[in-house]
Amino acid sequence: MTAPTPSGVKTRPVTHRLGDDWLMAYAAGALSEGQALIVASHLSYLDDAPARLSLAEAAGGALLDRLDGELMAPDALARTLALLDTEEPAAAAPTRPAKAQDGDPLPAPLRDWLGRGVDDLKWTWLGPGMRKVNLWHGGPNDQRLWMLRAAPGVDIPLHGHSGTELVLVLKGSLTDPHGVFHRGDIEECTSDVVHALRTGEGEECICLALTEGPTRFKGWIAKLLQPFIGL
Ligand code: ZN
Repeated sequence: MTAPTPSGVKTRPVTHRLGDDWLMAYAAGALSEGQALIVASHLSYLDDAPARLSLAEAAGGALLDRLDGELMAPDALARTLALLDTEEPAAAAPTRPAKAQDGDPLPAPLRDWLGRGVDDLKWTWLGPGMRKVNLWHGGPNDQRLWMLRAAPGVDIPLHGHSGTELVLVLKGSLTDPHGVFHRGDIEECTSDVVHALRTGEGEECICLALTEGPTRFKGWIAKLLQPFIGL
């Protein structure tokens, strides 16, 4: 359902959401700074974020109780979540992220962390019609948090991933073989995924990305440029 915002701008419901495993790790404070920031940013687009966070928190606690020192069975998480699905979500979690502001491409958690707006960042050339800005580097697996700003209708070359890649759309849209991703949608790609993306027509696309290890570009031009791009 499309709900009008106070400013009259129609917002599209978020259809590509992060999995419960991410929310449990977020609620438990087990994520790196970069991971927590992209998860909080994604949650700021979801109306049911407080309920989902409470559920994730409860699921994490229940899981720990059930394990009680035993090794986790492969389906333990799924069984615990299935159990919790039948329960009413608890009251809003105290860690509720701020709602994204209308008309501002940066979600509140990211804007607060940066302390500045999208046009005040130091964007550098990444490729034809594409600019990037590196925001953070750390955590396990050589994690990098960065933003992509691309013109409408731009192709992002075919690439693989050394680890998990999370891409959160902040403005415009992105299309790849897994679907069309709009504002607030997040895509999770694991190391076995190889994909090319294209930005939507009519509007620039701004994304927040968290990658692990170097991104492995496939085309020779992209490979040649990789040392200069620094991703
Ligand atoms: Zn990718």
